[in-house]
Amino acid sequence: MDAQRRGQLASALEAVHARIATALASCDRVEPPTLIVVTKYFPGTDVEILYDLGVRDIGESRDQEARLKVADLDFRDDLRVHFIGQVQTNKAASVVRYADVIHAVDRPKLVSALARAAHSRPQPVDVLVQVDLETRPGRGGVVPDHAARLADAIAETAELRLRGVMAVAPLGSDPEPAFATLAEVATRISAHHPEATWISAGMSTDLEVAVRYGATHLRVGGAILGSRPPRR
Ligand SMILES: *Cc1c(COP(=O)(O)O)cnc(C)c1O
Repeated sequence: MDAQRRGQLASALEAVHARIATALASCDRVEPPTLIVVTKYFPGTDVEILYDLGVRDIGESRDQEARLKVADLDFRDDLRVHFIGQVQTNKAASVVRYADVIHAVDRPKLVSALARAAHSRPQPVDVLVQVDLETRPGRGGVVPDHAARLADAIAETAELRLRGVMAVAPLGSDPEPAFATLAEVATRISAHHPEATWISAGMSTDLEVAVRYGATHLRVGGAILGSRPPRR
């Protein structure tokens, strides 16, 4: 194991945990969120170091990269793999084979594709409804007013287990009103689906705001792993 890289990751991870602790204290919140470390574009050796440092949740966003990366891990069964990227319907079968949680479910067609793909799994796959918080139609997600209807469709699908909502803050504007909207959508959905308690929100730059608005899962990449290598 690369000692220098281990040292880097350990101190960055510690700094992020400290930010989370400060954010929790500032809003009198006790229950900490789950930290998902986003390892997209970084090698499996980093995942091994992170696991050694106690990380048990990783986030990936590209099917082929994620599939190959997690296939090689000998602690695979002790790690939760969160697929946080957009899922093309023709990739549903592949993603369902290794993902424990799929965060970006945003359309009925994808619900049926995932259901077909997950049919052979022993357990249903955990999914979140991705809510679009952009003022203009953005980078995936269902508009807030239609999120509850999509959640109902997921809840009626035996192969999928509705766990809650997910969103990315709007690009270049204040995350606060956006995360407030997300919290409202989450409340509306969990009123009908008591299992759907998760709110996946907050990234490297806005995790404090997400903590304040009730995020149960943070997805943090850059603040832990450093700037991402260029996409190949
Ligand atoms: C890449 C990515 C993240 C992590 O973003 P950072 O700014 O590196 O923390 C979180 N969520 C999604 C959906 C992503 O694609």
